[in-house]
Amino acid sequence: MNYSPFLGKTSNYPVDISVKNAFGCHFYDNSGKKYTDLISGIGVSYVGHGHPSVIEAVKKQIDSHMHVMVYGEFDYNSQKQLAQKLISLLGDRFEQIFFTNSGTEANEGAIKLAKRATKRPKIISFTGAYHGSTQGSLSVSGNENRKRNFRPLLPGIEFLPFGDIASLKAIDQDTAAVIIEPVQGDAGVRIPDLEFMKALREACTNTGAVLIFDEIQTGMGRTGKWFCFQHYNTIPDIITLGKSLGGGLPLGGFATSKKLMETLTHNPPLGHITTFGGNPVCCAAGLASILVVENENLMEQVEEKGKLFERLLNHKEIKGFRRIGLMMAIELEDAQKVETAVKNCLDQGVLIYWFLSTPNAFRIAPPLIISNKEIKESCEVILKVLNTI
Ligand code: PMP
Repeated sequence: MNYSPFLGKTSNYPVDISVKNAFGCHFYDNSGKKYTDLISGIGVSYVGHGHPSVIEAVKKQIDSHMHVMVYGEFDYNSQKQLAQKLISLLGDRFEQIFFTNSGTEANEGAIKLAKRATKRPKIISFTGAYHGSTQGSLSVSGNENRKRNFRPLLPGIEFLPFGDIASLKAIDQDTAAVIIEPVQGDAGVRIPDLEFMKALREACTNTGAVLIFDEIQTGMGRTGKWFCFQHYNTIPDIITLGKSLGGGLPLGGFATSKKLMETLTHNPPLGHITTFGGNPVCCAAGLASILVVENENLMEQVEEKGKLFERLLNHKEIKGFRRIGLMMAIELEDAQKVETAVKNCLDQGVLIYWFLSTPNAFRIAPPLIISNKEIKESCEVILKVLNTI
């Protein structure tokens, strides 16, 4: 066991690789063994590890300044530039972003904002949802096993079956917010149909409920568009971001209209605050990463690369394949086979990974910079492993 006895942990079975360094789609352990990263630190390192442009931007920012003052008080250039860029990518309905440190904090802020703006008691979420591990986000997450021993959690939460149009009638005048992943990640890449998303938008508009899209995993190009809502033509009232947003450094945020965001400025003033949210170094890395995606035309390649994975991963052990862009769930017969496949791939130097709530599938979500050659080589390893499970 390399894992330090001085570090708190919540798993008795950490993967336990001692990371020496990481570049592009690869990381190396202390013995020099090379791994291909098909997970991106769970959807974080979307322009790969150690991209020179990102490193340069971080170094430049550190030379200039790091944390000077709590979020929202001082004018930081890197924060301002990233916000402006994100708003331009998000489109007209979004006018402001509030930066947080993580995904779950973005959801906490979004839920608070919806409650403050509507003064209503009820929140609706969906079966299979994963929104984070803090109390509010956990409350709106679906997996009962992960919640049972942490009650009481937030009151007034109702869960609807994901993708079921008829159940949307539960959205009513008491509903402050409806929170949904536009493609469910931890549920094993569950993609709702357009009709459902349209009906959801209509139900929220008709009742005045605030529609929150958690795009912490699906955002920043993972699905082949900057944001997943752009596939559906269904625009949420609030979008939450995290994971890739900081280009490898911790950053989250919730974006919405100016009118909605402004409700957090009064009754009480400072309705949501954070010390570190929007850290200038993280914002510099976030902006540099967006520019890498643009300059290297990565977005245009996401769908083709996803298709290549789908085409190559053809094996009798694969019982299901769900994919949007470069976000994939590959179903095997049972959890035991998944565990063996993940472990054996790791031995062979390819990192694929399991889901928290979908034990019979493994996930693939590589950096968007992955080359066709790297895709082919890593799929060969996966296929060889599948022969032996
Ligand atoms: N929402 C979704 C859809 C996620 O995938 C995650 C992280 N897996 C979160 C929220 C929570 O983000 P964080 O771990 O940064 O708090």
